[in-house]
Amino acid sequence: MGVSNLMSNKAKRACDRLLGKDYILIVSEKPKAGAAISKALSSEVTECRESGVPYWIIELRGKRYVVASTAGHLFSLFTRKRGFPVFEYEWVPRWEAERGASHLKKFYRVLSKLAKGASQYINACDYDIEGSVIGYMIINMLGNGSKSYRMKYSSLAPEELRSAFSSLSDMDWEMIEAGICRHELDWIWGINVSRLLSWVTRLAGEKRILSSGRVQGPTLTEAVDRYIDYMTFISTPKFSLKVELRAGEDKISATHEESPFDNREVAKRKKENILKGKKGIITSAERSLSSIRPPPAFNLSELQYEASRIFGFSPSYTQRLAEELYLDALISYPRTNSEKLPSTIPHEKILSELSYMESYRSIAISILKTGKLSPVQGTKEDPAHPAIYPTGKRPSGLKRDSYKLYDLIARRYMAAFMDEAKIERVEFHIRAGGENLIAQARSILKPGWTLSYPFSIGREKRINVKEGSELEVSSARISSVLPGKPKMHTKVSLLKWMETENIGTEATRAQIIDTLFKRGYLIYGKDGVKPTKLGMAVTMFLKEKLPDITKTELTRQFEERLFRIRKGEEKREDVVGEARRFITEELERAVNMEAELRDFMKMYLRPEVKCEFCEMPALEGGLCLIHHRALIGLADAIEKWEAAFNEDRDKVLAKIAKSTSVGKAIRDVAKGVIEKRIIL
Ligand SMILES: [Zn+2]
Repeated sequence: MGVSNLMSNKAKRACDRLLGKDYILIVSEKPKAGAAISKALSSEVTECRESGVPYWIIELRGKRYVVASTAGHLFSLFTRKRGFPVFEYEWVPRWEAERGASHLKKFYRVLSKLAKGASQYINACDYDIEGSVIGYMIINMLGNGSKSYRMKYSSLAPEELRSAFSSLSDMDWEMIEAGICRHELDWIWGINVSRLLSWVTRLAGEKRILSSGRVQGPTLTEAVDRYIDYMTFISTPKFSLKVELRAGEDKISATHEESPFDNREVAKRKKENILKGKKGIITSAERSLSSIRPPPAFNLSELQYEASRIFGFSPSYTQRLAEELYLDALISYPRTNSEKLPSTIPHEKILSELSYMESYRSIAISILKTGKLSPVQGTKEDPAHPAIYPTGKRPSGLKRDSYKLYDLIARRYMAAFMDEAKIERVEFHIRAGGENLIAQARSILKPGWTLSYPFSIGREKRINVKEGSELEVSSARISSVLPGKPKMHTKVSLLKWMETENIGTEATRAQIIDTLFKRGYLIYGKDGVKPTKLGMAVTMFLKEKLPDITKTELTRQFEERLFRIRKGEEKREDVVGEARRFITEELERAVNMEAELRDFMKMYLRPEVKCEFCEMPALEGGLCLIHHRALIGLADAIEKWEAAFNEDRDKVLAKIAKSTSVGKAIRDVAKGVIEKRIIL
């Protein structure tokens, strides 16, 4: 202890001396990035440390630079005013506004000291809206914003950092304005709607802090809407007739040409014909070739989607792992929307680095051999970054999941340079017992890019039977299907929804979804994401009483205006002013309906009359809104079910009450009708 203290004091004196009089401060977003930047720019780096926070001193062409780092946002918006609406706010160090941010104090101390002594500043935070705001706030609040430059890079690869440093640009004012505007909008929305919700809850006799947000609200509404659709799903049944046939080694799964049938009796007759006939004959086999282009390199949401599909990773987990890989300089910047790999990326160098890694050797070499390094390009773009690519640096000591993700990224990158995959599709027409059947088979003739990225296309065996071949009928099966069943949301499908609706950003979407879980609004059920009682109360309240606040359309309009600020086509004050007017109007309207809002919230949080089937408040005929909707759905569908099965109402009701294809609320009300608790 004593020794290391002495050492660190000695080192500290050396660092204080080295700082000297004139230096330029380079601000990075994370300590790992700071270390990578200083190492890339100079071979002689003096590492200093204060309260555990590292910074680095380097000399370049006779000038002294100090590379320092933060740990994400150092400032956030805050108000000392109580009540709502509130529009007076200021930027304060984050720990003054947020719990759990006190670890930033030491970064703040070191950055304040370093910023005071600097003559010029370089913002070298990640190149996106957030990075632009993080660096700008530090330089502006602790130093002098008018003497600053921006360093733009997409990966922490040394060559890229060196070239970014040699082509510094002016500060990216439009990005900064758009970023600050996003913070202001989110703050105005978040605090005012949250305070309104908490106020109403207090009126309703409960002390709870509730919250909502500009992007959070519409996302929660979407999850709830999908859940209600899922719970109340019913449609008219159809009947599919599947037949298994065999010829030697080949097995063929066929369906009846007319399948699905509207009526079960018809399907039954056809099934009997086929079983009686015992044999089938191939009347025609049409083979067709198709080519499948390689998929483009990943953007963040596609990476999150694939990592969820293949490994079961949640979107926020994937994002965290990807950010670590980026900080280890193994991949380029992951918070990107782009699916493009421009030629400015040193593809040849990256591929030859990859060829030194055992698992990629043969693929990388085969790509290099072709001599044409023109990867396939996707359609999505990002103004700041290309698609995600490996830098070529060899991964070592990665944890298992990190390695899996790295491997996925590297494979997808290489696939983009490879040939199309050639697929053979065959459509068999089969005659069996006087009935016509159809079967389809698919096999890979030339694997192409699937050699590198084998996760998209399954490998199926080639089927050799041809026209005239005889087959044996092994079995035939009728199953009822309900077309149009919605899927409940998962975290990753919610994220995709946000992307399609253009709300939120690459950087924030996964985190917003996690917040909805942390607040206790959403939980994971057996089939996917479902709302809790609280989530239901907040959603119904906002939907019924303040519908405009949670409209996706409005959130998207503001996203578009943020984008226009980024392009210099609109001013921050105008957009914030508009948000302010809107929130003021909505909140005034809400305050005027005090009693109505109180009663509504009370009804949801502590219902006096509960639904016949669940914990939600009874609205009509003793049913909550979900079970009420289910009863209407059941009434609409019941006659069609009777016709499809040729059965009477009692039998059909018993079927519905047991069917796992209809929504749970439909089963509930069907049971209720059978038990005479409700009438249809
Ligand atoms: Zn209910």
